[in-house]
Amino acid sequence: MTRTLLLVAIGLFAGSVQAQQPMFATTKVDGTDNVYVFRYQNAQSMFIVTPEGVIATDPIGLARPQAVTTYIEEIRKVTKAPIKYLVYSHQHFDHIAGGKPFKDAGATVVSLRRTKERLVAMKHPDVVIPDEVFDEKRTITLGGTRLELSYVGNNHSDNSIVMRLPKEKLLFAVDFIPVGSVPGRGMIDFYPADIQDSFKRVLAMDWERLIPGHPGPGGRLGTKEDLRNLMAFDQDISAEVKKAAEAGKCWDTAEKEISLPKYASWPGYEQNMKFNIQRYCAYWGRGF
Ligand SMILES: [Zn+2]
Repeated sequence: MTRTLLLVAIGLFAGSVQAQQPMFATTKVDGTDNVYVFRYQNAQSMFIVTPEGVIATDPIGLARPQAVTTYIEEIRKVTKAPIKYLVYSHQHFDHIAGGKPFKDAGATVVSLRRTKERLVAMKHPDVVIPDEVFDEKRTITLGGTRLELSYVGNNHSDNSIVMRLPKEKLLFAVDFIPVGSVPGRGMIDFYPADIQDSFKRVLAMDWERLIPGHPGPGGRLGTKEDLRNLMAFDQDISAEVKKAAEAGKCWDTAEKEISLPKYASWPGYEQNMKFNIQRYCAYWGRGF
């Protein structure tokens, strides 16, 4: 009887812990006056509030218009200033679909030229086509804030940009630098030949904290140390799969045999190793 009650109590407790993660949250970044992270379920975006208006990023509204409505409501709780810009991080719909309410609110939608080209070709019904594009680099200056947009080479997709706030030494980078965890399903759109160069370009930039497009463990921000660790992980998995490919073990045997115990404690290790092995098996085993 006591035991049953105890198990019920544990069950209730576990349930209540899960329920404690609210659907969304808006957090001001520590040490800044005007930089916020808006998280909705498992994706997040950065927005910057200035006296002259708001710069928002990724609407994160694929198949969930409520996320976008909530995003705008959350901005409105901070400021009534107009939303001037909506900047896309890359072409993937889970980050950039659903932007119409931003456009309707008067925002100018900005992306890399290649991102726009891809989106025009794909014609997703819920993706707003960018109004303005840039090649390589653009700086948005608004109300005393500078936001630098930079293309840093092929990494996760061939059109990811990073967004840097030079004064705050903050970087917003989506999907290609997961904070403290093993890269996952997004490896399907990943450029093995170019990734280390892209990482190096990001490492060389002046920033101290990184806001990821999906919350890191415990919601923490990333550091250059996280990026260095990720670079090492990528080199290690690449080298292991290359050996396996040359031994004729791609795909299935490689997936079964390859392990990297050094990274086994990283969140996502168990679920995500296969995506890394598959991507590198394609590269080292098939040449693509
Ligand atoms: Zn992506």
